[in-house]
Amino acid sequence: MSADCIFCKIVAGSIPAKTLYEDDEVIAFHDIRPLARVHFLIVPKAHIETLKECTAEHQALLGKMMLLAARLAAEQGLVGYKTVVNVGREGGQEVFHIHLHVFGGGPAA
Ligand code: AMP
Ligand code: ZN
Repeated sequence: MSADCIFCKIVAGSIPAKTLYEDDEVIAFHDIRPLARVHFLIVPKAHIETLKECTAEHQALLGKMMLLAARLAAEQGLVGYKTVVNVGREGGQEVFHIHLHVFGGGPAA
């Protein structure tokens, strides 16, 4: 847990989110500024800043996030979808707590 991290606050329940899924390792919630009709984020509960900090120790967690993306996308009715991980400021990352974007269903309304 990092005190001034917005996703740690969502994990802790101290700020609200539209949660789709949660277990002891990950949480998934709808993006607050959707870039597609369906746009949600899959976030590990542990505070890991970027994909660059990940090691072999995180391999199972990262695989779980990808498989969860497929499952939740299907539950959201998506036939096809896009996944993105922005890495570092130069990679477009704004929230420095690793997350997997899942987009689908055409442009946001
Ligand atoms: P990134 O540029 O990959 O770091 O993306 C961060 C994403 O987090 C953006 O798409 C934001 O819209 C989203 N976001 C920021 N704050 C919140 C929040 N409180 N609840 C849901 N999504 C958020
Ligand atoms: Zn965090």
